[in-house]
Amino acid sequence: MIEATGGHLAGDVDAVQRLVQVDQKPIGRTPRSNLATYTGLFDHVRKLFAATPDARRRRYDAGRFSFNVAKGRCETCEGEGFVSVELLFMPSVYAPCPTCHGARYNEATLKVQWNGRNIAEVLQMTVDEASEFFAGEDAVARPLQLLRDIGLGYLRLGQPATELSGGEAQRIKLATELQRSQRGRSLYVLDEPTTGLHASDADRLLVQLQRLVDAGNTVVMIEHDMRAVAQADWVIDVGPGAGDAGGRIVIAGSPGQVARTTNSRTAPFLAQELARART
Ligand SMILES: [Zn+2]
Repeated sequence: MIEATGGHLAGDVDAVQRLVQVDQKPIGRTPRSNLATYTGLFDHVRKLFAATPDARRRRYDAGRFSFNVAKGRCETCEGEGFVSVELLFMPSVYAPCPTCHGARYNEATLKVQWNGRNIAEVLQMTVDEASEFFAGEDAVARPLQLLRDIGLGYLRLGQPATELSGGEAQRIKLATELQRSQRGRSLYVLDEPTTGLHASDADRLLVQLQRLVDAGNTVVMIEHDMRAVAQADWVIDVGPGAGDAGGRIVIAGSPGQVARTTNSRTAPFLAQELARART
């Protein structure tokens, strides 16, 4: 099932200036990349810390609050928060850093607080908690709200990229994209973005995708979830079966048209969903 949302796809390629593939590949391969750094919101958090009277007096700039820069981070673990322990005849294991106990920063950096919290404590916050904590700071609050909107409020800001699922990585990319482009004329390609999501989170995601469309972009996605398919402007039903029995376009049209197609395997399921959505 391929679904297209947004009017100007066919025959109007000039309308597309940019192609964005929002896939489920990891957003980083090391624990140094995390939710806060990837989305760019950590840059703003570090600036807030650097602007505190305490940081100014100590002459700490925003770089001081990065765990990737030598001056502010813990020397023992070099900002990793953990150390590799070599074991005889066994693969090495990771243990919390004995110096910073996972905080990643050196003691002097951790002395600086913004509204009563240090930078390591901020990284421990969930998106929901941070959203409240930074409510008055638009540059931080806006990306946090987007992450909540797509159902990622439970993730910690410092959650290492390596711990994120493919679906979470995909939604983080989408949130980053949503805050970046309000220009329109981009084509977004997504592969089953609702996979693994609860119905309420899938609905939140679809609201965000609709926002992209409302801003003049086009969203094309492969999808088996009829909730998503029913909301599309245009549906291309590929089949009729799976594997060797598929690969042909059975019908293309509005969800209503596809639902009325007799030889489509998708039709009865889509019809059911359309009926449900109407009630
Ligand atoms: Zn350390």
